[in-house]
Amino acid sequence: MDQDVIIIGGSYAGMAAALQLARARRKLLIVDAGERRNRSASHSHGFLTQDGADPAEMALQARKQLEAYSTVTWVDGNATALTGERDRFVVECADGVHYAGRRVIFASGVRDHLPAIEGMAERWGRSIFHCPYCHGYELDKGAIGVVGSGPLSSHQAELLTEWGNVTFLPNDTLELDPQTHERLLERGASIEEAGIESIVNEADVLLSDGRVLSFSGLFVAPRVEPASTLPLELGCSIQETPMGTQVQTDTTKETSVSGVFACGDTALSPHSVSLAVADGAMAGTQVHRSLVWS
Ligand SMILES: Cc1cc2nc3c(=O)[nH]c(=O)nc-3n(C[C@H](O)[C@H](O)[C@H](O)COP(=O)(O)OP(=O)(O)OC[C@H]3O[C@@H](n4cnc5c(N)ncnc54)[C@H](O)[C@@H]3O)c2cc1C
Repeated sequence: MDQDVIIIGGSYAGMAAALQLARARRKLLIVDAGERRNRSASHSHGFLTQDGADPAEMALQARKQLEAYSTVTWVDGNATALTGERDRFVVECADGVHYAGRRVIFASGVRDHLPAIEGMAERWGRSIFHCPYCHGYELDKGAIGVVGSGPLSSHQAELLTEWGNVTFLPNDTLELDPQTHERLLERGASIEEAGIESIVNEADVLLSDGRVLSFSGLFVAPRVEPASTLPLELGCSIQETPMGTQVQTDTTKETSVSGVFACGDTALSPHSVSLAVADGAMAGTQVHRSLVWS
């Protein structure tokens, strides 16, 4: 049977949108591939009432509360195609099943592109992070290494001096102008010009000249892009941000394609669970209004 809304992505943003719609007794279907962005982290910080909680447990609790509403259908799977137009969309999943809906919400998150440094990917979310507000406090004012990935990295290094003793490792990814260099030193950061060979131990850096620098944790700014290519394939406008690209929306969270909305990391920056939940709640209520006054 046709849905009022199909939500692609059932993590924090998608479930926050779904909750508003379920409470308006709308029929909705969530398709989720189960790859939350923070899936490698054991603790999530900064979200009210859940500070320090297991991010998987947070998502599970939300899913349970959502599935208690009789108008909600959950599909574990990957949405592979989206066709149609406002009031007549069809989502196809990897198993070949099709679902029809009047509105679509992309809450499909982003893909992180980390620098190609040996040892980085497997430590992502464990001892290598991007958000100081999420993971800076636990480093207990210790030694922090900030690995260069692009123009934003010096800004990240400056900010992180609030959380510990920073060593900035540009790793040939950016050239520091004299003012930025000066500002970093004024904030107490040191700058290590040698290139990075690999990440070793928990969060130590093996330099190309053979020295090893030890840190309590490392930070890096990944480049992001929407995890799903479906918005682009459908013709939704994509915009550049300082961190990469995201799906463009108006203030009601509608994309440039009528009837298609987007929320959470895929349509927002900066990124956090709190912001994704707020953005999802906004998308849910605005989609509901678009159904009322269609
Ligand atoms: C390592 C790490 C640690 C973090 N720690 C914190 C923290 O401590 N506190 C904090 O506030 N924030 C933290 N964040 C940020 C936080 O994870 C994100 O802001 C948040 O997950 C965004 O929620 P979302 O719902 O927009 O997207 P996601 O949580 O990324 O969820 C997107 C969902 O969409 C699904 N999906 C994508 N494409 C499809 C498709 N085609 N079909 C079906 N499903 C699809 C995915 O599988 C996934 O389940 C962290 C991020 C990282 C990378």
